[in-house]
Amino acid sequence: MRIARNSYRDLCRIFSQPLFLQRTFSSHDDKPPLPVIPRAGSHRSPWEVLKEEFRALKQGNFTSESNNKVPRESDILIIGGGLIGSSVAYWLKQRNPKAMSITIVERDPSYTRAASVLSVGGIRHQFSLPENVQLSMFTSEFLRNIKQHLSVLDMDPPDIQFNLQGYLFLASPEGAEQLVRNAKMQRDIGAKVELMSRERLASKFPWLNLQGIELGTYGLEGEGWFDPWTLIRAMKQKNLSLGVKYVNGEVIGFDKQTYRVAGTDGYEDRESINSVQIKSEGEIYQSQFAIVINCAGPWAGNVAELAGIGTGKGILSLSLPVEPRKRYVYVFHCPKGPGIESPFLIDPAGFYFRREGLGSHFLCGMSPTEEDEPAIDNLQVDYDYFHNTIWPHLAHRVSKFESLKLMSAWSGFYDYNYADQNLVIGNHPYFHNFYFANGLSGHGIQHAPAIGRALMEYIIDGNFESIDLSRFKFDRFLSNDLLTEVGIV
Ligand SMILES: Cc1cc2nc3c(=O)[nH]c(=O)nc-3n(C[C@H](O)[C@H](O)[C@H](O)COP(=O)(O)OP(=O)(O)OC[C@H]3O[C@@H](n4cnc5c(N)ncnc54)[C@H](O)[C@@H]3O)c2cc1C
Repeated sequence: MRIARNSYRDLCRIFSQPLFLQRTFSSHDDKPPLPVIPRAGSHRSPWEVLKEEFRALKQGNFTSESNNKVPRESDILIIGGGLIGSSVAYWLKQRNPKAMSITIVERDPSYTRAASVLSVGGIRHQFSLPENVQLSMFTSEFLRNIKQHLSVLDMDPPDIQFNLQGYLFLASPEGAEQLVRNAKMQRDIGAKVELMSRERLASKFPWLNLQGIELGTYGLEGEGWFDPWTLIRAMKQKNLSLGVKYVNGEVIGFDKQTYRVAGTDGYEDRESINSVQIKSEGEIYQSQFAIVINCAGPWAGNVAELAGIGTGKGILSLSLPVEPRKRYVYVFHCPKGPGIESPFLIDPAGFYFRREGLGSHFLCGMSPTEEDEPAIDNLQVDYDYFHNTIWPHLAHRVSKFESLKLMSAWSGFYDYNYADQNLVIGNHPYFHNFYFANGLSGHGIQHAPAIGRALMEYIIDGNFESIDLSRFKFDRFLSNDLLTEVGIV
């Protein structure tokens, strides 16, 4: 059963009745969110990894190429080789490269439609949920040391063009209280965020029209943007060198087995999944696994459905609430616009813009209302949306944007979680070997390195060791503990 998104919350409410509560759920109610952010690479030194590669090279078994043969079995099979899938594989191998075989199945190896490549590569520490702040802070640390983490022998170290520049969140009088609350929580965790009065905003950003603005918050450290394509290529190259197998193919189904367990009214039949069907180069292969991880980005809901999640009875009637939502990115030129100090600006009207390079180019975008969501059967761009909806907002906030030239545009799919716009991580309560890392709803690029590490810990240690993400498990839909992140752009 595919559940209409409007009724999803109702269904969660039904599931939250005690009958369906089969597991204990951790509560974070009064916990102060003050964990220390561990340094990237705290599990195994990147130098150790490089040394091992060097040893493997000497022994003649170093791989940096993938052949497309579908393996009959793997310990861990990852569906989707975007940034999230690649990061999960990287961290599992980083923890112990020899302990497990890992296969990534990717149907679009040039990533023409992958969200990772079509994103605008932004990273910020300014979220309203502490876990999201922590995930971003860890990623900033990871990106700062990326050459240590992702360098591969005999290859140039990756240069992801990390452009450090703060996000500027502006708030109307109605949104000011929330912004103050967010800033306090972010600072408590260790993020460097400045709360700015109207006067401070006017002196730091004199080109801003502050009409309707009460205050703002500005990121002082670790925020900015980078080139997602270079990051994904570097991650893949590193994974290949560590022995991860990338297969060019599409997962089209799961094979199930039935087993019998003792229940309260006698025996009951249950199902387990332990192999997938992969369509590759016109053939269909069966590939077995001990653990499968859904990293299919915007299509994660479909992949879950292939396993029967959302089409069965009881717990299995609840679908993974993730679907593709089309978002446009426009590139414009404005020589008189804000200069090199231009922040990544998020306006209370819902639009954003940021500088692109040093030649007075800018990127911008704005999520449509629920009623105006565009069709998702293509990646065509709606230019009227820029002219009629976004441009008037831009020109209102920055008067210099009244004269600009639209240069180009593209669109991509958000991996949109229509229940609560947040990450879904951990395993499914029925299929214990089916794991999720989905539903990032527009902030997955900046969280991918941290999510990979978190899922590695959960799979190997049985817990989220570094950043506690237990509130983000699929179980929250059963208990109706939905999480609301107000900082979704
Ligand atoms: C326009 C836009 C702007 C964005 N801006 C930002 C930003 O500034 N900052 C930020 O943090 N995030 C941003 N995002 C969100 C971010 O891009 C995503 O959250 C993130 O890339 C998700 O990564 P992923 O690996 O899960 O998905 P993807 O990169 O989409 O990878 C999923 C992969 O799974 C494959 N796949 C799907 N189904 C199957 C199957 N059945 N078999 C085999 N393979 C399959 C697909 O081919 C795809 O390559 C943006 C997204 C868009 C669209």
